Amino acid sequence: MSLYIRYFGDSVLRQKGHKIEKFDDHLTKLSQDMLEIMHTSEGIGLAAQQIGKAIQFCVMEVPDHPEYPTTCILDGKPLSSSLIMPLSLANPVVKTLPSDEYYYEEGCLSFPGINADVARPERIVVTYQDLDGVEHTLECDGLLARCIQHEVDHLNGVLFIDRMEKPTFAEIKKEVQTLKQKTIEGIKSSKGQIVFLFLNEKKHQAGKSHYRGEFALRVAHLLHLEIHRVAIPKYSQAWNCHHLSSSKSTFRINAGCRGRLPWSTTPLRMG
Ligand SMILES: [Zn+2]
Repeated sequence: MSLYIRYFGDSVLRQKGHKIEKFDDHLTKLSQDMLEIMHTSEGIGLAAQQIGKAIQFCVMEVPDHPEYPTTCILDGKPLSSSLIMPLSLANPVVKTLPSDEYYYEEGCLSFPGINADVARPERIVVTYQDLDGVEHTLECDGLLARCIQHEVDHLNGVLFIDRMEKPTFAEIKKEVQTLKQKTIEGIKSSKGQIVFLFLNEKKHQAGKSHYRGEFALRVAHLLHLEIHRVAIPKYSQAWNCHHLSSSKSTFRINAGCRGRLPWSTTPLRMG
């Protein structure tokens, strides 16, 4: 089963995650897959609910923020937050520490293009288990503390729109409702959303094109793109693609995958 990001309107985002009981290779693989999806989508955190799994598990890779530098104490030892990245948290429980709340404009991979201010406590302590099941206590502040609060909310079916003040939510309400409607329609019709993919037949080379095409389709799926043109018939069938005309605006696929794979010259067309 392929993993892709679930948008608001998908009921899994409202489910409280089950406790992680097994710390095995499957969990390690899930962590790797989630980090890959998160990087591809240019996010800094991802909760299991966002890829359709209602379990108590999230991953993150939070950069040091110049305005909100993070202080970090792991199991009683102060250290640079960069040393614990990327971070996988199983069964995390957050407690806020006495500190001020502050506003920060948050985004969420399950709400593409929607950002708004959310107030959260500045300093927290989170207890969690790592991929081996070992328990840890992490005290932190700054962007890392905010990201952990956002992701742990997801694990309990709570979304950032629930944390917004009423006037803030009112400003984005229409967009949120539109997203919900599109998501529900997309789930019903088993399609993604808008946008085109174009495979360049001229670059089709035995052995390599298969991988390229598959990767491109995977990225398109992660980005919830509706695929309109595919050069390799077997993919057309597998992905239930449509053959429609191309669009005018174009962006390159390396915008989504940070150029980690050699597919940067093939255009991904948006409509
Ligand atoms: Zn989120």
